[in-house]
Formats: sequence, C-alpha cells, structure tokens
Amino acid sequence: MFEPLPQYPDHLGLEEEILAWWDAERVFDRLREQNRGAPPFSFLDGPITANNPMGAHHCWGRTLKDVFQRYKALRGFDQRYQNGFDCQGLWVEVGVERSLGLNSKREIEEYGLAEFAERCKERVAEYAEVITQQSRRLGMWMDWDNDYYTFSDTNIEYIWRFLKECHERGWLYLGHRSVEWCPRCGTSLSQHELMNSYAELSHPSLYVRFPLKGRKGEALVVWTTTPWTLPANVAAALKPDAEYGLTEDGGWWAVALKPDTPFSERVRGEELVGLEYEAPFESLPAQQGVVHRVIPWDDVDLTEGTGIVHIAPGCGAEDFELSRVHDLPVLTPIDEAGRFYKDYGEFEGRSTEEVEGPIVVELERRGLLVEATSAVHRYPICWRCATPLVFRIADDWMISADEIRQPMLDANATVEWTPDFYSKRMDDWLRNMGDWNISRRRYFGLPLPFYPCVSCGTLTVIGSLDELRERATGGFDQLEELHRPWIDEVPISCECGAEVRRVTEVGDAWLDAGIVPFSTLGWQNPEWKEHGYATGAAAGLTGADLPDHAYWEKWFPAHWVSEMREQIRLWFYSQCFMSVTLTGESPYRAVLTYEKLLDENGREMHRSWGNAIDAAEALQNIGADVIRFMFCDHVQSQNMKFGYGPAAEIRRRLLTYWNSVKFFVDYANIEGFRPGTEVPAEVQPLDRWLLERTEQLVAEITEQYERYWTRGVIRAFDSFVDDLSNWYIRRSRKRFWNGDQVALWTLWHALVRSVQVIGPVMPFLAEHLWRNLVAPLEGAPGSVFLAPWPEARERDEKLLAEVAEVRRVVELGRQARGDIKLRQPLRRLVVQGTGPSQKYVAEIAEELRVKEVEFGPIEVSELRVKPNLPVLGPKLGKELGPVRAALQAGEFEELEDGGFRVNGHDLSSDEVLVERTGREGWALAADEKLTVAVTTELDDELRLEGRVLDLIHRLNTMRKEAGLALTDRISVTLPQSDADLLAHKAWIKEEVLATEIRADGDTEVRITKV
Ligand SMILES: [Zn+2]
Ligand SMILES: [Zn+2]
Repeated sequence: MFEPLPQYPDHLGLEEEILAWWDAERVFDRLREQNRGAPPFSFLDGPITANNPMGAHHCWGRTLKDVFQRYKALRGFDQRYQNGFDCQGLWVEVGVERSLGLNSKREIEEYGLAEFAERCKERVAEYAEVITQQSRRLGMWMDWDNDYYTFSDTNIEYIWRFLKECHERGWLYLGHRSVEWCPRCGTSLSQHELMNSYAELSHPSLYVRFPLKGRKGEALVVWTTTPWTLPANVAAALKPDAEYGLTEDGGWWAVALKPDTPFSERVRGEELVGLEYEAPFESLPAQQGVVHRVIPWDDVDLTEGTGIVHIAPGCGAEDFELSRVHDLPVLTPIDEAGRFYKDYGEFEGRSTEEVEGPIVVELERRGLLVEATSAVHRYPICWRCATPLVFRIADDWMISADEIRQPMLDANATVEWTPDFYSKRMDDWLRNMGDWNISRRRYFGLPLPFYPCVSCGTLTVIGSLDELRERATGGFDQLEELHRPWIDEVPISCECGAEVRRVTEVGDAWLDAGIVPFSTLGWQNPEWKEHGYATGAAAGLTGADLPDHAYWEKWFPAHWVSEMREQIRLWFYSQCFMSVTLTGESPYRAVLTYEKLLDENGREMHRSWGNAIDAAEALQNIGADVIRFMFCDHVQSQNMKFGYGPAAEIRRRLLTYWNSVKFFVDYANIEGFRPGTEVPAEVQPLDRWLLERTEQLVAEITEQYERYWTRGVIRAFDSFVDDLSNWYIRRSRKRFWNGDQVALWTLWHALVRSVQVIGPVMPFLAEHLWRNLVAPLEGAPGSVFLAPWPEARERDEKLLAEVAEVRRVVELGRQARGDIKLRQPLRRLVVQGTGPSQKYVAEIAEELRVKEVEFGPIEVSELRVKPNLPVLGPKLGKELGPVRAALQAGEFEELEDGGFRVNGHDLSSDEVLVERTGREGWALAADEKLTVAVTTELDDELRLEGRVLDLIHRLNTMRKEAGLALTDRISVTLPQSDADLLAHKAWIKEEVLATEIRADGDTEVRITKV
C-alpha cells in the first residue's frame, strides 16, 4: 500500500516532517560519507553578513547554492559545504550602534571600544544562529558547525599577508585626496561602495554674487547647491573660450545660459581670468591670507548654472584637482563628523545642513543673494546608514590597481559566467576600477597592520601574528584577539629602533570576504590544525579546521560560486584582486549571478515602505519548496517580483504534478500494485512513449543543471508534467480503471524519475514522494538524496517527435474549436502540414472529439493579406497604394516560401500580415507549421452525443460529490424528457460504472449506490 495522498499537498506540514526525518536519519551526513573521497566539486560560499535575520532576497542565492550542491552530490561529487559569515566592519558596527542607541563616533568611544567589540561579537553570534535556523528551514544543507567567520584571527592574519605582499610590491600608499565621506559613520567610502547608492534629495539652489575687485558694481554670479562649501571658497572658475556677458544689474553670466538677456558688455572668458573678487565669507579666520581669483577651467558646464563655478578644493574632488593645477590653498571646513572647525566663526560645531540657513541669511543681508530656491537632484548617500555624503580631504590607505588590472582581466577571461554577458560587466568594472581605498576610520574591523615610523619614515607592514610577536615592544599579553582596542596596545620596534604604533584605521570589509579562498582552505599552511580556523573572535562559534596546503591545492580554485550581480564590484572583485595578487589565478571557474528582488508590484522592497518580506515570514507562509521553485523558475538575469500572489500561482502550477501522483497512488492502492524493478514485457505504444519521454526529461534536466540554468530545469519539468498528465494519464484512464499493471508500472516509473530530477529544486516534496513511492520497496535507498542520479540512455527521437506533433495538432484543434466545448462532437477535421503524426488518426479524433480526420491542403480557409506598413511602406513608396488595393481585392498569388506575388512585386512573408479565417461552417487555427480546421455545423446525431457526454460528466461529478469510491457501482434515474439518451445506454453505463439506467424520473437526475 502506498500512503494515500490528500487532495492538496500540505507543503508546510510535510516540510517540517522531512526536516525532522533528515535529522533523525542523519541523511545529510550519510550523503557526505557516501561521496567522501570521490572527485571534488568545489563550491565557495560568499559570506552572509551576520547582522540581521534573513530577508526574502537572501533565500534567492541560498536556494541556488543549495540546488547545485544537491545536484552535484547526487552526481557523486565530494563537497565541502562550508557556510560563511561576514562579521566585522560597518554593517555590524552600525547595527550595534542602533541597538545601543549610539549615534556618533564620539559616543562609541565614550561607551568604550572593548565593550563595543563585545557587543559586536554578541550580535554576530546571535544572528549567525538565526540565519542558520532560517537556512535549514529553507532546506539548505551545509556543514553548519564548521562555518567560517571573517573576524577570526586566522582570517585576519591571511589578510595581513596579502597586505604585506601589496606593500612589498610597492602598491600600498597613503592617498591625500578629496573623498566621499559619511559624516555619521565618520569615514570615507571606496568606489565600490558608491555605486547605486543614491537618493533624490532636495537642496538649496543659490545664485550668489562675488563682487569683482576694482570694477565697481560688477560681480561674478555663481550657482551652488551646496551652500556649506561657500565659507571654504578660494577661487571662481570659468570656461576660457566661452562668451560671458554683463547684465544690467552688473552680474557676469555665460551668455549661453541667459540667451534672451540684453548684455551691456560681452567678452570671452579668458579676458576675465586673473581678476580678483571678494569671497562671501573672506572675513572668517580660516580665510585669512587667501587671494580669491578667477581661474580658467575647460570643463565648466554650460548647460546649467551660470557658467561660473565656485571652487572649494576642500569640499570636492574636481575642486581638489584644480587646486593642484593652479596652486590654490585647500581649506578643509569640516571634521570627521561633518562639523565645522573652530576657525569658521559662527559656523563652528555645526553640521553642513545646520549652516545652510545662516549662510542664506548672511548672503541676503549683504545683498549678495540673487536668487534662492531649492532643487531636487540625485545625490550620493551612505549605503550603510543612508546619510547624504560630503566631500572631505582625507588621508586614506590605498592599494594601487595599475599593475593588477591587466592580470585581473586575463584571469576573468578564464571564468565562465552565467548568463555570459556578465563577463563583460566584470571586465567593464575592472577596466574602470580606481585604486582600492582599504581604510575605514572605525572600530570593529580588520586592524590594518601598518606601522609608520615618524623618526625614519619607514612603513612596516606586519604579515602575521608571529611577526607581530617578534616585533612587539609590549602589550602582547593583553592581546585577546586581533581587534581594537587590544591591538592598539601593541607597539612594535621599527628597524631604526624607534617604537612605532599602529595606524588606527581598520580595513574595508571586502578584504575580509575576499581572502576566504585562502584563509578557509589553508593556503601555504604547513600542517593541518584541528579547529585551527576558530581563532580570536571566532573561537567558540565554530569548529572549523585550518587545513593544510595540500587541501588548498585540492579545492582551489572553486568550481563554482553564486552571488547577486552587484557582487561584481564587491566580492567577485575583492576575491579576484586578492587571488590574482597571491597566485595569478582567478579564485573561481564559473559564476552564476542573479538580479534584484522586488515586491510583487515591481517596487523595490524596503522595510520602511512596509513591503519587505522577511525570510521567516515567507518560509512560514509559503513554504520552502514553493519559494525555491519560484526562484528556480526565474530568469536569473532579470529582477524578480516576489510575493504571496506569485507564490499562490506556483502552488497552483504544482497541483498538476501532485494530482498525477495522487492519481497513481489511488489506482495502485485499489489494485494492490507493487512495482517491480524490471520494465514489463508487454508495454503498449503509449507506455513506450512515456518511457522514452521520461528518458528525455532526465537528459534535458541534466543538461540544464550542468549549465547552472534553473529556468531550463523548470521548463523541462513543466513540459514533462504536462505530457504526463494531459497525454499519458488522460489517454490511459480506461486502463487504470481496469487495473492495467503495465500502465501502473509505467506511470510509477515516470513519477519516480521526475521526483529524482526535481529533488534539488524541491527537496522536501521530492523526499516526501520518494518516501511514499520508492523507499518502502526492498533494497531501495531510504532517501531520494541517497539514490544515484539516473543516467539517461539513447532515446527513440522519432517516436518523441511524432507524439510532440500529435500534441501540437490537438492543441491547435482545441484552439480552432474556440467556444465549442469539447464534450460536443464535431464532424470533420482537416490538418495541413503534418509529418509523422498521420498514423495517430484515432488519437487525434478521440482527443478532439471529431468523427473524421483528414490530412491534406486546407481549402476551407479564407486568406486575407494586408501590407505590413512599417516594412513595406519605405520599400514600395508610391507603389504601396496599388499593392494595397490588389491585396484587398484578393488579386494575389501565394508563393511556395510563404510569400505573395502581387502587382508584379514578390513580397516576403514578413512584409505582409496574413490572416486565415475559416469559411462559413469551419473554424481554424494555425502555428508556423501546422494548420487545423474543424467543421462547426451540428446535426441531430452530433447534438445527441453531445448531450450524452454532458450527462456522463454530470454523473461523474455527482459520484464525486456523493463521496463514492472509484469502484462503487450506481443506478441512474433520468427525467422522462431525457429518454432519447437511452439510445446510448451501454456507453453511459460503462463510463459511470452504472448497473442500470432508467428514464422514468421527474425533472432531476438521480444516482443511488448499489
Ligand atoms: Zn554612514
Ligand atoms: Zn623608523
């Protein structure tokens, strides 16, 4: 007996059950044992930040990772299954700050760095646990107790080695530059952190006069949307070869930007260069000694503003570059927290936003304000905390990208990207990447091992803990782990003998994630250390070993990695950078990337908009299999709409599959059917077809898994389920009613194979069905994941093509019938364009409920041809009119190739629009190859048969509603008015399992169980 299935699958219930069963039976462990020592499939997990519970979008990547790891395991590959957690850097810091109610660096320092580090570690431990539970619920199989944590001392030491290598190659330098700066986080950001991080913000838009010295009544008019930069103004730039004009009220503008204004004087920009002017805030202490001049700048924008640009080198990247060219003083008005320094008078201590009001008031009071409005524009914001960024001059540690760029491009050329155009995206990023800004002025992150000596100028870069121990002049005893504040208490001795302290900066978090192809695999580690990765902050959180170099040789590079597309400039980049530096090779061979998750209406998901869905919520309400199926069904290179609507749609789609299994179980149980392992000898043609079709499914789906293309997997599965349910089962119903063992075996076999190949996508449902259909059989593996992957054999392609064509004919026939329901028999059907399907006349006639089927040219259609105007108009010109008229009058000749000859012109099929309609009494439908026409006229015989079929349908519905078993017999009473139906008595009795039919009732049809 198979376990009877309910009408609908209880996804949530069966998933919980299977999870518990997997645990109890140690299925995952047994799978790993089974594959141990086999050829490796090396997957490297990109670390998830252990800072929050998972969102629905995290389920996307985790689904793909699990699908392909499961698939590779079924193919017998040995795998590592190491999950990774990202644990330090700004994400975690900002999360902890929020939870503690701290909102500035000063508050963190008052709270205490040691305490702050403890809170960060607690947060990571807490969310690592939450993420683990949620991932398990999603069905993700990982080696959960051996995760890597990027804040482990071992991970940090490996980064130190990389940095030392960069230093030895002369790539490391301290950049003095204008950088985008987050005033809340108090640190600069690097190029890869700036992409896509913009918001539409409203800023003041001011037109301000800069009075020219020695030219009474004349002033430059400048435009700015960042008034806070005016106190740091040192120059005004204009385009030397552009024309400038003086307005009646004495303002200089670029003529191009005030075209309708009468100017009293016009000059070329270069004639104004060198003039001195009064800057609006030149009386501030910071401005003392600055001579404000007009400078030339070819890049002045003449599409907005005034054509005269105010220059504050301390507040903008381009301005800073100009200061080098023209030797301008650089005034830095704001500190790390974005607040004005002391020598800025009344602005001291205020933020850039707080000074906007007072600046406008002051300009107004002094008659310098021409106009003040506000403008909305795209403005960069901090990707961690969403604070608008400002420019500051800062000293940041940089790694030069010049020498590594080409080797990285070469390495990327060896990588297989899915979809393949992402390879070009990676190339684009690599070609344009600037130097890597690796320093952050923060607390809980990778401590940069840089020790610059003030006495001799040497920069020492420490490459390991051992080296630090050797060079330390003290403080080593209190060094709990490689984090601030402890690491800051360990000075070293410079080679000149002086004692040197570490810089206080920590590292970009992408260093942490980028090093894992080395740190987790034991690169250059002489001997295996048990739990050797669980060092520093990671001690107690994981049991991960630090393997030896031989292990690294075996598992590096990864065969496959998968993360979302934005990781091109993040993890794919940092990993590649570090790996090419250390080994000259790409750390991965194949990449699958995917796009962004949107809500079901296509909007971005945001917690603050109330449309974000947590993973926990999605898993509780939708279930893991449906979520996984949804992600796999998606074209990975497109944004995906996610929500309860799309999930319900998937659940509906899966019902066809469920119903097919239920159908089998119901009939198999009636017959007491037990499947044997051999193909029965006496298979019928339809069985033979399903066996071939099943082989085709296995071959197609295997190919799609090999391509890492889940969408192809789902398509192959869907099309198989359609064939199975709407062809094999429907056409074999009678055999199942009659308990045909061969049909039962064939269906069982097809279902088992489908369960196996869809297992990686829907592990719970597949396991549930396997437990029912296969596991109880003698010698069968208890889990679908312990069974070997089915090997597809050669197929009878001819047979498959024949039936595929028959199914197309039937589908077109259904379309042609249109509104005429299938229970109404029709007289004739004509099919044009068929090949092998002609021997399936009986099947076609039965499926489409027609009496006669003919093959041959269809002369029952009316052909209407119209010009395809956008194509034909330009081609024919004046000739179009006559051609159009001839087409309309039907004066054309149909050509062999599907084109038409009209008025002496040969028109190809894409130059015309063709419409075929059935003549009076016929209906037709066509695709590019086949045309199917049916007669629509009914006679008495057809009408009567139509009523009989309606009755049969009704009686079977009544049987179901009365809860009768499939084998129960009934007696039927019809109203007297239906007595003519008794002409088909035997037919009706057979179809509804009736022992008797009478037509002596009143107005109702009645059935009774006998
Ligand atoms: Zn920030
Ligand atoms: Zn020194």
